[in-house]
Amino acid sequence: MHQITKSNNLFEEAQKYIPGGVNSPVRAFKAVGGNPIFIKKAKGAFIFDEDGNEYIELINSWGPMILGHANSKIEEAVQKAISGSLSFGAPTAIEIEMAKTICEMVPSIEKVRMVNSGTEATMSAIRLARGYTGRSKVIKFEGCYHGHGDSFLIAAGSGAITLGEPNSPGVTKGTAQDTVTVPFNDVNKVHEAVRANKENVAAIIVEPVAGNMGCVLPAEGFLEGLREICNAEGIVLIFDEVMTGFRLSPSGAQGVFDVQPDITTLGKIIGGGMPVGAYGGKREIMDFVSPVGPVYQAGTLSGNPVAMAAGLAMLSQIKEDQTLYSDLALITAKLENGLQEGLDNLGLPYTINRIGSMISVFFTSEKVSNFEDAKKSDLNLFGQYFREMLKRGVYLPPSQFESWFISKSITPNLVDRIVEASNESLRVIH
Ligand code: PLP
Repeated sequence: MHQITKSNNLFEEAQKYIPGGVNSPVRAFKAVGGNPIFIKKAKGAFIFDEDGNEYIELINSWGPMILGHANSKIEEAVQKAISGSLSFGAPTAIEIEMAKTICEMVPSIEKVRMVNSGTEATMSAIRLARGYTGRSKVIKFEGCYHGHGDSFLIAAGSGAITLGEPNSPGVTKGTAQDTVTVPFNDVNKVHEAVRANKENVAAIIVEPVAGNMGCVLPAEGFLEGLREICNAEGIVLIFDEVMTGFRLSPSGAQGVFDVQPDITTLGKIIGGGMPVGAYGGKREIMDFVSPVGPVYQAGTLSGNPVAMAAGLAMLSQIKEDQTLYSDLALITAKLENGLQEGLDNLGLPYTINRIGSMISVFFTSEKVSNFEDAKKSDLNLFGQYFREMLKRGVYLPPSQFESWFISKSITPNLVDRIVEASNESLRVIH
C-alpha cells in the first residue's frame, strides 16, 4: 500500500515557512490534486520518498539527470572540486574548459557566458539582443516558457499555465508591451508581428522543441521560417535550449533540425544537476557583453567551480557515449508504443508527442501543435492518471503541460513496468 504519511506531515510543516510549501510552484501538485511527495534520495532510474516508497523517475529534475541519478563520475568530480573550496568569484581554468566544450559541441556558439540558471540565461540573452540591435521588442510564442524573467511571463508555459496564471501580477504594463506573443508553429503570424512592430523587434526567442506546454514539435519549415525572417529583418534569433540542449543531441535541437540561431540559451544538463545556465552565440554578438562591450551582466557565483566540475563530468560522458541519443530514442519509442497500445485498447482520447527522450501524453484526440491544442486536453483525466501512476510507483511530471524525460537508466524491463502501471491506471480512470 502506498503510504505517504511522512510526506503529508512534511508538506504541512513546509507550508508554514515556504509559500505553498515548495520552492517552485509545479512541485506542489496543485494541477493534479493530492499532496506532493517529499524526496529523500535517488539512484539511477529510481527516486525514493521520505516514507520509503520507490518510484520510477520520469521527471529527472525536469531534465538535467539524463544519465540517471547519482552518476558516479559526476559525484567524483564534485567531490574533487569541493576539496579545493566551494567558490572563488575569480577566474578558473575549469571555466575555460567548460566554455571550450560547449563551443565545440554546439557549433553556432563561438563564445559563451556561464550563469546560474536558465532564467538568468534567457534574461541576459534578450538584454544582449536589445543592446546589440538597439531595439526594444521581443517576440515569443504562446505556451513557451523561458524562465520567470518579467519579459517572459506573458502567455508563458510550464507552471504558469498549470496554475492558470499566464500573466503574473507584478509584471508591469510597460514590460508586457515589449513582449509580443504569437502562436507556436505559425510563421505567418510571426511575419505579421514583425510588420506590426516595424524595425523595433530585437529578438525572436523560441524553444525549438517546446517542452513547457507538454512536448510539442516544430512543424516542418517553422524554425527555417524564423531563421529567414531574422536574416531579412536584422533580428536576433534566440533558441532557448535550456531543456533541449544536450537532451536531443550533443548539439541540441539545432543539431537535429539543422537551423542555427544567433544566440543559444542553455541550462539543466550542462550543470549535471547543479544550478547552472549559459548563453552563447556569435562572437560579434557575445562581444557586446561586459567587460568587452556595453551590455552589463554579472554573477557572484557564475562559473562556480563545483558546478563546472559537475557539468563537465556530464558533458564528457555525453561526448564519449556514441549511442546515447539513439539508445534513448529507442527506449522512449518502446515506451510510446506500450502506452499507445493501452490507450487504444480502452478507446480513450489521446495524442502522444515524442522526440528522442522527450514524450508527452495529452488527453485529447486532436493533434497538438501549439498551446491552444494542448489546452484542449482533459486536465481532470490527466490528474487522475497522474495520481494512479504515483500509487503504482511511477513519478510523472505533475502537470499535463510538462514533458516527461527519459534517462539512460531506464531499461526495457522498467518500460514494461511503466506500461503495466499505465494500463492499470487507465482501467481505473476509464
Ligand atoms: N527555458 C526553458 C526552455 C525551460 O524549460 C526552463 C525551465 O524549465 C527555463 C528556461 C528556466 O530555467 P530555470 O528553471 O533553470 O531558471
